Amino acid sequence: MTPAIAAHGRGDGGAPHARPTGRNDAAHHIDSRIRNECQAARLLPVPDSHRLLRRTIVSPQKSLYTPSVRTDVGLESARKFALQNAVLHGGNADPRAVLGKLIAEDPSLRSRARELTVHLDRVVAEVNRLSPEQQRAELASIAPELLERPREDVGPKVLPPLAGATDGHVVLRLAPYPSGPLHIGNARAFVLNDAYAKRYHGRLLLVFDDTIGSEEKPVLPEAYDQVRAGLDWAGVEYHEVLYKSDRIPLHYEWAEKLLGTGEAYVCECDADTLRKNREAMKACVHRIQDVDETIAMWKAMLAGEYGEGEAVVRLKTDMADPNPAFRDRVVFRIAEREHPRVGNRYRVWPMLEFSWAVDDHLLGVTHILRGKDLVMEDAMETRIWDVLHVTPRPHFVHFGILRFKDLELSKSRYRKEIEAGRLTGIDDPRTWTLQSLKRRGIRPAALRDFVLSFGLSLNDVEVSAETLYAENRKLIDKDANRYFFVPDPVAVEIEGLPPIERVKAPLHPDFPGRGRREIPVGPKVHVAREDFEKFQGKEVRLKDFCNVVLAHRARFVSMENKEIPKIQWVTHGGQTHVVMPDGSESRGLSEPLVASLKVDDVVQFERFGFARIDHVSRSEVRAYYAHR
Ligand SMILES: [Zn+2]
Repeated sequence: MTPAIAAHGRGDGGAPHARPTGRNDAAHHIDSRIRNECQAARLLPVPDSHRLLRRTIVSPQKSLYTPSVRTDVGLESARKFALQNAVLHGGNADPRAVLGKLIAEDPSLRSRARELTVHLDRVVAEVNRLSPEQQRAELASIAPELLERPREDVGPKVLPPLAGATDGHVVLRLAPYPSGPLHIGNARAFVLNDAYAKRYHGRLLLVFDDTIGSEEKPVLPEAYDQVRAGLDWAGVEYHEVLYKSDRIPLHYEWAEKLLGTGEAYVCECDADTLRKNREAMKACVHRIQDVDETIAMWKAMLAGEYGEGEAVVRLKTDMADPNPAFRDRVVFRIAEREHPRVGNRYRVWPMLEFSWAVDDHLLGVTHILRGKDLVMEDAMETRIWDVLHVTPRPHFVHFGILRFKDLELSKSRYRKEIEAGRLTGIDDPRTWTLQSLKRRGIRPAALRDFVLSFGLSLNDVEVSAETLYAENRKLIDKDANRYFFVPDPVAVEIEGLPPIERVKAPLHPDFPGRGRREIPVGPKVHVAREDFEKFQGKEVRLKDFCNVVLAHRARFVSMENKEIPKIQWVTHGGQTHVVMPDGSESRGLSEPLVASLKVDDVVQFERFGFARIDHVSRSEVRAYYAHR
C-alpha cells in the first residue's frame, strides 16, 4: 500500500481523488473486525494493553467522520493533525503530511492509506476553509499540545548525543555578554544549547556574563533586554535568568579558598613587567610569597588600598607553558568603573574564566557547549577545579566556528555607527542582529534550521548569507502572496489598448485556491527602469495583462499569454520604498493592493524579492527586503 502514499498528491490544486473501488469492501472488513473484537471484548478477559482500544470501539465518540471509519483510533486524530499542519504552514494543511502524522501515531493505518486519503482530503479541505484564527482556536481547544512546534522539528536528529547526558538531568547555560543585542554570529551557541536542552528535557540557564567588561567593550544597560528579546524571537526557551554581577560575593568566597591553597597569588607587578616576565618565562617575586601575605594583600585589594592596575590575582598555571597567555593567568583585577547593574559596589572583579569555574560548578551545569576556539577556557576551568578538588565536572562539548562571508560582525562597531547616526538602530539590516533579521522577515525557524544543518561539526564553516536565505525561502515562499513592485519607475503610454478596466492575477501561482487579486489597468503604466532599458523596442508581456512593444509610447500587440519576456508593471500605484540589506532604499510604485497589507505581512514582489511590510500609511508603504 505504500505506493498509494507516494502517489497521493497535494489536496489543493491537484485532481480530485477517485473513490477507491475497494472502499466498501474495506469498510465491510473493518465493520466485521470491530464486531469480532466487540464480541471478544464481551466474552474474554481483556489485558490492560487492550483496554484503551476496547473503550474506543465500544463507545465511539461523537465524530465528524463517516461511520465506516469513525471507530478507528487513528482517525480521531485526523482533524487535530490537519489543524496543526494548517497552523504551522500558513493556514494550508497538506493531506500527505497529515497522513504521515496519522501513520506515525498508529502504524496499523499504513495498510489503509489509500482509503484514508479520501477522508483526509475532506477533513483537510474543511480545515483549509477556516481562517487561520479559527484553525488556531479550534486546535487550542482540542489539542493545545500541538500548538507548539513538535520537538523533532528543532532538529535534534542531526545532532549527536551528548556524552554522559541523561534525559531530564541536563543543565546547559547561555552566557551572553551584554554589550549589545545578539547577532547572527552568536546563533550557533544559542541554537545548539536550546536544541540540546529540549532534546534532553533539561534546563537552560541564561547567565548574563556581566562582569565589569572593559573600557572598549562596556556592559550596556539596554543590552540585557535586547539579548532577551532576541532569544525570545529565536524561540530559545531558557528556564532561569541569572546575572554574574549578582554573584560576586560567591566569587570572593571561592577566591579565598583558592588563595588559601597557595596556588594563586596577588601580584603587584605593573602590566609591562608582567608581560616581559611572561615572555621571559620568569616568575616574579610575588609568586613565592607565603599564603598569609597573599591573603593580606587580597584583603587590601577588597578594601580599596590598591588602585586600578596596581594589583591582580594570578593563578599559578605554568610560567613555562608554550602559550604565553597561559603563564600564570590573571583571575581577578581591579576596575573602578561603575557597573550598570551594581554601580560601585565592587571594585575587584573576577575574570570570566574564574567566574565560570565557580558558577558552572555551583549551578550544576552538566555540559558546556562552546566554540573550539575557546580551549583556553577549558584549560583554566579544569585547572581551577583541580586546585579546588571540584567534582563532578561538566563535560566540554565543542563546535567549529561559523563564519559569514562578507559580513563584519562587531557589536562595538555597530554601536559606534548607530551613535554616529550612520546606522538607523539596532535593527538596521547592516547590523545582522536578530532584531534586524526579524525586521526583514527572516523566520526564527529558518535561523534554527540553518544552524542545525551544520550539526555539531568541529570544522570551521564559512557560509554566505544565501544559505540562510535558502532556509527562509523554504518557509515563506508558500505564505508570501505575490504583488507587483516597480522600482525606479518609467512611465509608458500604451497606444491602441482595448477598453478594459482591470485584470486579475493569482495571489500565489501555486495555490490558485487562495484567490486572485484585481489590478486596475489603463493606457498609462509604469515599468521598472531596468526592464525598460533592457527591453525597449522589443515585444514584452506586461505580466497578467497584455503584450506591447515597449517604448515611452508603447504599441499594444495582443492580450493572449505568449512565451515572451514578462515584466511587472503598475498603473496608478502607491509610493513604496524597500529598505535593502546594505541600508540603501529602493523606491518605486506598487500595485494598489499593497497599501492594504498589514505590518508584518511577508510578500514577494515579483522578480524583485521577498520583503516584510514594515509600515503602511496613506502616503507610503515601507518594506524591508528579505532576499530574492
Ligand atoms: Zn608580580
